[in-house]
Amino acid sequence: MSRTPIRRTKIVATLGPAWEHPAGMAALIEAGVDVVRINASHGTPEIRARWVERLRELTRDRRDAVAVLLDLQGPRIRVGTLAEPLRLEPGGTVTFAPEDEATAGEIPTTYDGLAADVRLGARILLDDGLLTVEVTGIRGGRVDAVVHYGGELRSNKGMNLPGIEVSAPALTPKDVEDVAQAAAIGVDYVALSFVRRPEDMEQLRALVPRSTKLVAKIEKDTALRNLCGILDASDAIMVARGDLGVELPFEEVPLMQKQIIRESGLHGKPVITATQMLESMIHAPRPTRAEASDVANAILDGTDAVMLSAETAVGEFPLEAVRAMDRIAREMELQRQGRGVTIDAALGRRSADGTSLPQHRAGQSGPVRTEDAIAVAVCAAAEMLSAPLIVCFTSSGFTARKVSTCRPTVPILACTPEPETFRQLALVWGVTPALTEHSTDYQVMLSVARQQILARGLAQPGERLVVTAGVPFDMPGTTNLLKIEAV
Ligand code: PEP
Repeated sequence: MSRTPIRRTKIVATLGPAWEHPAGMAALIEAGVDVVRINASHGTPEIRARWVERLRELTRDRRDAVAVLLDLQGPRIRVGTLAEPLRLEPGGTVTFAPEDEATAGEIPTTYDGLAADVRLGARILLDDGLLTVEVTGIRGGRVDAVVHYGGELRSNKGMNLPGIEVSAPALTPKDVEDVAQAAAIGVDYVALSFVRRPEDMEQLRALVPRSTKLVAKIEKDTALRNLCGILDASDAIMVARGDLGVELPFEEVPLMQKQIIRESGLHGKPVITATQMLESMIHAPRPTRAEASDVANAILDGTDAVMLSAETAVGEFPLEAVRAMDRIAREMELQRQGRGVTIDAALGRRSADGTSLPQHRAGQSGPVRTEDAIAVAVCAAAEMLSAPLIVCFTSSGFTARKVSTCRPTVPILACTPEPETFRQLALVWGVTPALTEHSTDYQVMLSVARQQILARGLAQPGERLVVTAGVPFDMPGTTNLLKIEAV
């Protein structure tokens, strides 16, 4: 009997009016959404609570996991409310003023610290960089600027200050309220926008329940300088190319994406590649060739997940967008099963995609950790034995994440009794989470895994399995067991 290949790359889809109704949610989840992203920049807390309740209801008895990620707005700087759209003419001048002080003709900004942070000659990018101005004067709280690239400016458009150390706090009062709601409605991941340093993630960590996993959105040049520390302080990372491509010259984004993905692999943290992946599908049922290549290349770079934003939130073809992602990922995986540079990858000598490491890690040495040795051995054993599957018993998800980092050539079935772990592993490359009964008896766990394997058609009776876990069970971070079993 031939097995249906499991897609290893995960799909994150942003929820919005395009699929908020139960039939829409059911259709997109069946089409392959692994993680539902809710963007806290839009909608109200009531709408978000209703969405999460609806999703949980729909997925309650589902065999496969779906995680919920709440994406906080963070210290995004915006244009305030304009009485009417403003036309910015190239060569003309404009003045920015704090929202509650702005007079007619001035551009109100939600960021009171603008005048204190910018310097003469700094560029301010408006509306995703479509409009650009250069600072020519700072007067008290007001900033004068000359327009380089003009156009129509509307209320609430984003403002980016490339190269400027913004002094705004990492979490705004709105973020703090949204985090409190996230804890109340029980989301699995919380993402923070405009992260600049590890301390930003630590501040967020102090506000969420222990089991909530944190995603750092990398979209500022400051974050790139502090990437290793941010990775250490986070559970996952997002290459947020929308703002990153405004904060950095756009031609730098492709290599930056590769470096961020590589560094995440070395830190053993899942990475999401986001924004404009299938942008044209907001209005078209098929992606462009360039978009299909972009998704494929992110997968070849080694991303854990690819993300859909407006394509699913407000697009006309959300289902087709998910199906397109699914098709591209499966095709890439068919051509390139795992990456196999397991030992070097796990030891941090070489990235999981086989390319050489950044200088600062290349010379890193030190004792090899037990969990790294086990993860490498598990992947090697699966390859040598032509085992169709790796089985992990995990309570926190640690063992499954470790093995995933080595990018094995076969799927990882992660059996866990913890509902949060079950859902959170939905984001992790190559992992098929299974929610199983709690037991500390190895033989009982093995027989539960066998039932899952047969029910899912993951292996045939008699085939060999590579099993890994941490003993004693229930103690996170103790991956130390490797056994070969038969189905
Ligand atoms: C991005 O900037 O790429 C991103 C994902 O963030 P947001 O959608 O919040 O702008």
